[in-house]
Amino acid sequence: MSLPPLMPLEEARDALLVELPRLCDVESLPLDQCAGRILAEDIVAPINVPVAPNSSMDGYAVAFADLTGAELPVSQRIPAGHAAQPLEQGSAARIFTGAELPPGADTIVIQEDAEVTPSGAIRVLEMPTQGQWVRPAGMDLKQGETILTTGSRLTPPAVGVCASMGLTHAKVYKPLRVAVIATGDELVEPGQPLAPGKIYNSNVQMIGTLLEQAGFEWLRVPRVEDDSRATVEALRHATALADAVLTIGGVSVGEEDHVKAAIESLGTLSLWRIRMKPGKPFAAAEIDGTPIFSLPGNPMSSLVTFSLLARPCLRHLQGEAYKAPVKIPVKAGFSRAAEKRDEYVRVALEDGVATVLKSQNSGVLSSALTADGLLHLPAFEEIKAGESYGFMPLSTLLYT
Ligand code: AMP
Ligand code: MG
Repeated sequence: MSLPPLMPLEEARDALLVELPRLCDVESLPLDQCAGRILAEDIVAPINVPVAPNSSMDGYAVAFADLTGAELPVSQRIPAGHAAQPLEQGSAARIFTGAELPPGADTIVIQEDAEVTPSGAIRVLEMPTQGQWVRPAGMDLKQGETILTTGSRLTPPAVGVCASMGLTHAKVYKPLRVAVIATGDELVEPGQPLAPGKIYNSNVQMIGTLLEQAGFEWLRVPRVEDDSRATVEALRHATALADAVLTIGGVSVGEEDHVKAAIESLGTLSLWRIRMKPGKPFAAAEIDGTPIFSLPGNPMSSLVTFSLLARPCLRHLQGEAYKAPVKIPVKAGFSRAAEKRDEYVRVALEDGVATVLKSQNSGVLSSALTADGLLHLPAFEEIKAGESYGFMPLSTLLYT
């Protein structure tokens, strides 16, 4: 059998992102239901935030020009949330953190730098600079500026920023419904007895959870045996049901691998086999307009191909703009000869140096519990101890 050449991961991902459509409908939701959703509109600041200058410290609001060394009488008291009167010339206003400056004041003398005289006036012990401790209007957000753009994710801070502008709702994309089909005669569900030859289906749980964490709706469908008719039927059912489909396992070139052939009998395969380790047998396809991403069955391969390929594609389908995974240069604490595939090795960081975890077998999922992240070792390059390579923290790879 002749196989297509392996495709570099980045090339595969870019090719897919260009060709995939956007699938999602738009809904308007109250802000408290928006976290994790993708914006379907640009958000322009309707007001300045803060709307007026306010104090960032407890102290005295003054006009800088009045700070001549003489005592200043205290002419008013402004707690946060209360409107101020214009500042009487040659006086100070007692002010608290978050309170708006009275018109005429431009500087805060913090209370630690002021002494209150027996008559209740203040003497300034330490001169501030003009404008010190003042949060000017629009310091955070400027009225009329585009603050968030279509396709960006509403993180908790983004929801907070929307609230700070007084917004109550946002237009967001509806979550994509993604069916996950596990393939394999050997799989049984946790809770069932393990007959000889069987293993527990761990990947569906992991991938389904990752889907939900990324804001998708996970549609549970029954696992499918290693049989071509059953695989075709399962794909037909899942593509009719869901916006997108993930399959797990059965996508290699073995006699018991039926996914690729089943996809080809129903739709179109757009790419297959990636130049990466773990995760070579990955496929992307489409059946009647429903995108399908096929992950290899080995748990670590499933995890890595989901994170680096399938999830960016699903996010694109859901309207989200592509964001490259965080990659930080980290020194390798090991050397090895050049390999023919890009490798994503599980590493631990010790004093800022990456050491390879003992088990790099793609069947050993528990290594994801101890690894700090993946180190990207490029194909066809001798890897040298002390040189830096792209480190992807597991915390960002799993949760973003
Ligand atoms: P496959 O990609 O079907 O050739 O499977 C590769 C390896 O992953 C085999 O050892 C399978 O038993 C295992 N595997 C496949 N699917 C799952 C799954 N859902 N959960 C756990 N292991 C799996
Ligand atoms: Mg299999």
